[in-house]
Amino acid sequence: MGGVLLAAGLLWPAPARAQALAPASAAAATAPADLRLSGPKPWPPVLGETLEASLDDPELLLTQTRKRLAELKAPTSPAQAEEAFWLALNAARLEILLEADTEADASLRRARQLFAAKPRPSSQMQAWLEFMELRHRAITEGSTEALQALLMGRSHLRVEAQSVLGCEWDETETWLLREMGSLDEAWRATEALERCGTATGWPHFRAQALSDRAHLAGQAGTMGEAAGVGGSPVAGERVAQLFEEAYGVVGPGPARFQRSLIAYSAGTTLTDMGRSAEAARQLLRALAASRALGDRAGIAAALTARAALDVCEGRHADALLALAEAEPVLRQIGSGTAGRLMSLYTRRLQSLVAQKATARTLWVALVATAALVAGVAAVGWRQWSRRREMAELALRDTLTGLANRRAIEAYARALFEQAQRLKLPFTVALIDLDHFKQVNDQHGHTTGDAVLRAFASAVPALLRAPDRLGRWGGEEFLLVLPGTAQHELPGVFLRLRLAFAAATLPGLPVPHGCSFSMGGAEAGVDGTGIEALVEAADRRLYEAKAAGRDRLG
Ligand code: GH3
Ligand code: MG
Ligand code: MG
Repeated sequence: MGGVLLAAGLLWPAPARAQALAPASAAAATAPADLRLSGPKPWPPVLGETLEASLDDPELLLTQTRKRLAELKAPTSPAQAEEAFWLALNAARLEILLEADTEADASLRRARQLFAAKPRPSSQMQAWLEFMELRHRAITEGSTEALQALLMGRSHLRVEAQSVLGCEWDETETWLLREMGSLDEAWRATEALERCGTATGWPHFRAQALSDRAHLAGQAGTMGEAAGVGGSPVAGERVAQLFEEAYGVVGPGPARFQRSLIAYSAGTTLTDMGRSAEAARQLLRALAASRALGDRAGIAAALTARAALDVCEGRHADALLALAEAEPVLRQIGSGTAGRLMSLYTRRLQSLVAQKATARTLWVALVATAALVAGVAAVGWRQWSRRREMAELALRDTLTGLANRRAIEAYARALFEQAQRLKLPFTVALIDLDHFKQVNDQHGHTTGDAVLRAFASAVPALLRAPDRLGRWGGEEFLLVLPGTAQHELPGVFLRLRLAFAAATLPGLPVPHGCSFSMGGAEAGVDGTGIEALVEAADRRLYEAKAAGRDRLG
């Protein structure tokens, strides 16, 4: 949900402004002297006046903004025309936030018309209009071109680094980089955002930076990547602390919407990290804030996240209660793939829990829900479905279309941890094509590529729902098998072997004679980590090679 907040470029409440800036906060203490003297940097008209409302209840503000805009349908003076321009722009930013894409398109067109009709439009008007257009395009299209345009637009428009618009740009960049899976770069963008918030004197940017960083650190912890914080218990402490800091920076002012987003992001991030007590507390907070606002999407998201947490913890009765409450809310919203998908999984989970399903079937539902909740945590559940496509691009191997190494590693880690918690079997297997160098040497690299693609497309059809194949590198693949025990591996190997032998390999004769070797290892109860497990699989793979290839080690 943090992404939603970024998309909006949320504003700081005017009455809360003085209060938030008055104390000798870290922001004020580290700001250069001249900035402290000059006070917070100004916002454009309209956007500045509605800061509080946009943080607190964007939907209500949108209704009011549209009403004012309708009253100014035929502006009679240049001042009115300019006001209409800023109103249209404000409507667009709120519509982007609330995912009303068609309406956002219309508002941006209106703003563009008003801009074009103005005799001497200011450079401020031009920069904000272009920024909002680029942001909208990047969010809705998700194409590389749109993203590049957004990143380039900043220098093209000569946006000052530490201006309010510069902060908005930092915010959008953080969000986009995270969506694309560039965690390190996203992390650096949050640092820029925090500096910008401090320099301009607008603490909500700092709150956003902290919340995003906490989320990224959580993701990095789960993925085992070092984006400033590793995946240790210390990392968990730090993530929880960063979310609390973000909360503290928001302060007690009327900012229900922003608070609900931070709490939701905290709840889902901490769930992924296995910190259930803190996660539960944050999800309760998110629920309370969404209820206070009457934000149905927020209520449903918080309840469903809470149910997933309960299921992980074995509190099935509690999960059922939360789901029973979430479902009718989801149905009321009705629109959007993510919502439908979520209720589908929710229903499936619900019936499985009710039927006291076997561990194996429960796995399938758990994985689906876990993946959904993880996706939701990354981008906000209203946009989850569409944005997931974008995030997936950054996580897919371009040659084979399989999960790339980063993605399969993240998946293996997340499912391994879940298996440990639920005391269910979990196995990984490394696969390496035999004498692949000879394939390249004899038939050419293009044929080699085709063989890799053929292998990648033959395997997934044979796997169960939670199983996943990823490209580990070169002609090596990692197979993640949650719910599978070591003694089932020979069966898995035989199925894959038969399917690969029967596959048509473009450029090669029939039968093609290509084979692969496999080494697998099951997680023990001794708490050995996922890295050690993959190493054990690698040793078995080596044994299979040494014993003559085309076999399971
Ligand atoms: P072994 O049975 O011991 O695994 O023998 P091998 O020849 O498969 O192993 P080796 O590691 O010596 O060679 C792997 C080859 O895979 C070398 C490399 O050129 C080729 N390879 C790696 N990635 C790609 C790729 O993306 N496309 C193609 N065509 N070949 C690749
Ligand atoms: Mg190899
Ligand atoms: Mg090989």
